[in-house]
Amino acid sequence: MDLIAELKNITAEDRVSTNETILDRHSKDESYHTPSRPDVVVFPLNTQEVSDILRFANQHHIPVVPFGLGTSLEGHVIPYHKGITIDFSLMNTILEVRPDDFLVTVQPGVTRSQLNKELKKYGLFFSVDPGADATLGGMAATNASGTTSVRYGVMRDQVRDLEVVLADGTVIHTGSKAAKSSSGYHLNGLFVGSEGTLGCITELTLRVYGIPEHIMAARASFPTLDQAVQAVIAILSAGIPVARVELVDEQSVKQVNRFSGTRYKEAPTLFLEFHGNEAGLKQDVTFTKEIVFEAGCDDIQFETDTTERNRLWEARHNLAYAYVHGFPGKKMMVTDVCVPISELAGAVRHAREVVTASGLSGGILGHVGDGNYHVLLMIDTQNPEEMSKAEQVNERIVQYALARGGTCTGEHGVGIGKKKYQLQEHGPALKVMAAIKQALDPNHILNPNKILDHPREILGRV
Ligand SMILES: Cc1cc2nc3c(=O)[nH]c(=O)nc-3n(C[C@H](O)[C@H](O)[C@H](O)COP(=O)(O)OP(=O)(O)OC[C@H]3O[C@@H](n4cnc5c(N)ncnc54)[C@H](O)[C@@H]3O)c2cc1C
Repeated sequence: MDLIAELKNITAEDRVSTNETILDRHSKDESYHTPSRPDVVVFPLNTQEVSDILRFANQHHIPVVPFGLGTSLEGHVIPYHKGITIDFSLMNTILEVRPDDFLVTVQPGVTRSQLNKELKKYGLFFSVDPGADATLGGMAATNASGTTSVRYGVMRDQVRDLEVVLADGTVIHTGSKAAKSSSGYHLNGLFVGSEGTLGCITELTLRVYGIPEHIMAARASFPTLDQAVQAVIAILSAGIPVARVELVDEQSVKQVNRFSGTRYKEAPTLFLEFHGNEAGLKQDVTFTKEIVFEAGCDDIQFETDTTERNRLWEARHNLAYAYVHGFPGKKMMVTDVCVPISELAGAVRHAREVVTASGLSGGILGHVGDGNYHVLLMIDTQNPEEMSKAEQVNERIVQYALARGGTCTGEHGVGIGKKKYQLQEHGPALKVMAAIKQALDPNHILNPNKILDHPREILGRV
């Protein structure tokens, strides 16, 4: 069987590539995980082509890795078993906007910013904002979230329906356009976050929101990280419907200033945003001011001007790149635990102690309104001592979170990096996951050995 000729037959001569640059581009994500090339990259145009590719791959037991933009951080898209990478970048059409239903239907290669540009014409926006300009297919596959999730929820909350191509080429829908349903198993919930291991998403129907009448952003700085975290807990306890609340530690504000040319105070800082009408916003802002000062805030600056507000969030979103830029030759390792909000202050304190004790360079930042925070470490992957220290930092932070009812990954996903914690976190439920994988992908072709080891091993192990 000639793999390349078969794929060209299914798609087209110019949409199947073994070009070195293309293979390299699909050999890695944005993390420290070791790259590995696929045999071939194919660029389908529609669901039928995806279905034909999968049917063919399944018949011949060829591994298939779905690929959005490769911005994931745990080795998700790295084809360690070679085979076919399906790049969804040409399936990038916004199929339907239904303003009256607050719904949009898109192909998986549409990016978040592309969608928001289109939705703006209707006075609407899509809420999930993971910083990187990822594809909606990739975001659904990782259950992405981000700065606005504290108010609007995560990717799983936005998905009404997915069109999914299963390993044998069968095309299914996982939901409907209805706002609620008690019909059948919750397949939306299953496929969102499945990281390309259960099927390829070829269409998404997503919930969208009206652009708020008024938006206000603020920067509140504190003498200590602990006080900043306590302020977040107080804001949430007071029921203030904050739309974003991001923690950025002193080291990270330094990186922001250096990279983005800002002159923000170099201290533990909360970046905040409020959405609403003028009167409601005024009240929220006054109340927030009282709360943060009570928690020890020594300075709060409001950004009412759209340009300054955009600058603030651009600086926040560029933070990871600011670190990459600030540490040339090093790679990024990002922890991603999420803990119950009552455990957040202790968790962040513990993380700071662990990073300081390790002697590694890095900062703490996060979507703290959700109890989700990151330690961003810059490491020389060629230096075994540094790698080992970074892994120990990661390990200690994950163990701290798991011991307190948290999770090893709040939003980045498992890929290969968090696979080792799955049994500890899920216990016998891992066997249920393995049984699902086995039922839907018996030949183990879809993104093999990501999230889970081969189901055969797990079903005999737990
Ligand atoms: C600087 C930076 C900041 C980030 N910040 C955040 C953040 O705040 N929150 C957050 O959640 N993430 C964050 N991430 C991680 C990343 O952006 C997300 O995981 C994103 O959702 C991945 O989208 P992608 O299009 O790049 O997908 P890829 O990386 O290409 O793929 C991700 C996974 O989805 C699968 N996949 C892709 N497309 C499909 C499809 N059509 N069907 C089935 N499976 C598919 C892949 O196989 C893979 O397992 C950040 C990354 C970077 C580099």
